[in-house]
Formats: sequence, structure tokens, C-alpha cells
Amino acid sequence: MEKLVRKQIQTLTPYMSARRIGGSGDVWLNANESPFNNEYKTDFARLNRYSECQPNELISAYAAYAGVRPEQTITTRGADEGIELLIRAFCEPREDAILYCPPTYGMYSISAETMGVEQKVVPLTSDWQLDLTKIEANLDKVKLIFICSPNNPTGNLVKREDIVALLEMTKERAIVVMDEAYIDFCPEASTVDLLSQYANLAILRTLSKAFALAGLRCGFTLANQDLIKILLKVIAPYPVPVPVSEIATQALSEAGLARTKFQVLDLNANRAYLQVGLSMISGLEVFEGWGNYLLVKFPDGTALFKAAWDTGVILRNSPIENCVRISVGNRDECEKTLGFIRNYYS
Ligand SMILES: *Cc1c(COP(=O)(O)O)cnc(C)c1O
Repeated sequence: MEKLVRKQIQTLTPYMSARRIGGSGDVWLNANESPFNNEYKTDFARLNRYSECQPNELISAYAAYAGVRPEQTITTRGADEGIELLIRAFCEPREDAILYCPPTYGMYSISAETMGVEQKVVPLTSDWQLDLTKIEANLDKVKLIFICSPNNPTGNLVKREDIVALLEMTKERAIVVMDEAYIDFCPEASTVDLLSQYANLAILRTLSKAFALAGLRCGFTLANQDLIKILLKVIAPYPVPVPVSEIATQALSEAGLARTKFQVLDLNANRAYLQVGLSMISGLEVFEGWGNYLLVKFPDGTALFKAAWDTGVILRNSPIENCVRISVGNRDECEKTLGFIRNYYS
């Protein structure tokens, strides 16, 4: 069997999602999921018929929420499928490249790898900002540049002036893809207003995080109409299951949006609670975070991660030395986690 597989796939290490890593416990703060389990109703009617390729009501609702026109919006199976569509549409295998800036989200690299697209890696600076000089020196063959802000796993925002400089630098050369999976926790930092000035900007969004619908698999890409039209050429014919469209539309209704806004405020307050509590433990460094998670540096990150795991507090280890990513859960989960860490160091 192995011999039949493409060489690049033979050597590929799949994305180690929090789900794949597993664990057992009662505090799950490893996947940046929402602790809120909201109720939805669907009647499961019309399942004998195919769905619309891009359900009108859903597209209009998300476009209105994001402040763009429906023609600037495409919905996909999570933001992850948006990443894949962009690479498939813009990068010629073995000819073109993507560029990304680690430490960051792992799927840009894995999606490129599975499609035989080269990767240029330009690490973030020591304060986790863009290294524009190095990016400029590495643009040969690059068609897509992935920038995540708030960045996963570091939690910081990428400076707006640097994003604008990057868009200018790459005009008519490459697409800048802003991954805004966590932007609902800090909507004022969105780059969506830059769409009116830049044809080479695409923005990834998702209902998995602030909208508490990770299990629904519903994401969006926002861009100008010309770019959206290209993505519509490569997407599958019936990409949105009928129940997904119905639930997502409810989440984006007036009542749904009000609920999300309230839950975002709640989670941001819990993040502040964790931030303050952890900062008071000596020896820890808590980085400022803008999403529903915090990156924390411990004297021995691996030991802390394992000890927490063994007591049923499941966190996410990170490639950054001694750093562990902690998702913001409900107040009870945050208290338990903080209590465990405080005890561990006392
Ligand atoms: C969670 C996440 C995604 C993927 O979101 P889905 O819509 O669940 O596929 C994309 N980018 C970043 C940075 C994420 O953290």
C-alpha cells in the first residue's frame, strides 16, 4: 500500500489536533473551543435534495455581520477548507510557494505539503511581529502569504501598519491571507476595512471559536469579488450540508449574534481573570492574549503540561520553549486550572 502513495504523503506527518492527541479529564482547555453549548433546532426537512452551493441566507447573514457585501463572501467547511481552496486555486504544485511566519497555526504548512506546494518559512521576530525585510527577500515564487492575527498560539496581534506595508509590498504579486479565526474576541483589530483598498487581501473567518460551533464545521473567506469567483471555481459542488446552513444561519440571527456578543464578553472577562491569577505566581510569564487563549511560559513547560494532564486538566503544549497554551473556559474551569497551577508551584 505504502508504495502506491505519493512520496510527499508517505513522509507527511498529519496535523496533531487536540482531538488526535486525546487525553482524559474533566477540564478541556486544549482546543480553543467555547465552553458554551448553545441549543439549535432543525427539522431535518429537505434532506433528499442537494443544498445550494452557497446558501443565500447564510452568505447574506455572515456578510452583514462582517461588514462586507455578499459577493465578497464564500462559505467553506471550516476556515481550514478556506486555506486549502486558496492553495489549490493559486499555487501550481512544484512551481509556486506559500510563505508563513512561525510560530503560528500548523495547517498552512500541512495543506501546502499535501498539495506539493513549496513552503517559505520566515519566522516572526522575537516580539512575534512580521520580519518585513526577510519576507521581502523571500518572495520569489510566493503566491500566498499566511498571517494569523490574533496569532495562534502566541495570542498577540500583528501590527496593522506592518500588514498594510505587506499588502503594498505584494500588490499584483501575491495574496496576503489574514487568518482572523479569533477576531470576534477583538473585532476592532480586523483588517476587513482594507478590502476596499487591496485586491490582494483575503480574510479567513470561522464559527468554530467565538460562535461556539467547532463541531459544525463552518467557515468563511472574505475578499473582493474577483478573488471569491476564483474560489467558487475550485470548491466542491455541494459543500454546505443543509443542517449546517440552518444552524449557522440561526447563529447569525439577531438573537444569535446578541448571544455570541454576550459570551465573548464573558470569555474576555475569564481571560483577564486567568491572566491576573497566573501573573501573581512567581516564575511564570503570561503573554498578552487577544483570542480565547493565553500562552504561558513556565520554568519547565513539559513537566507542567504532563502534571496537569495526569490530574485531568488537559492543556496544549506548544513548540515555543516551556510555553503551554491555555484555552479560556468557563469560570469554573479557569478556577480549577489556576488552582492546580498555583498548587503545583507552592
Ligand atoms: C481553529 C483555527 C482555524 C480553523 O478553524 P475551523 O473553522 O475550525 O477549520 C484556522 N486558523 C486558526 C488560526 C485556528 O486557530
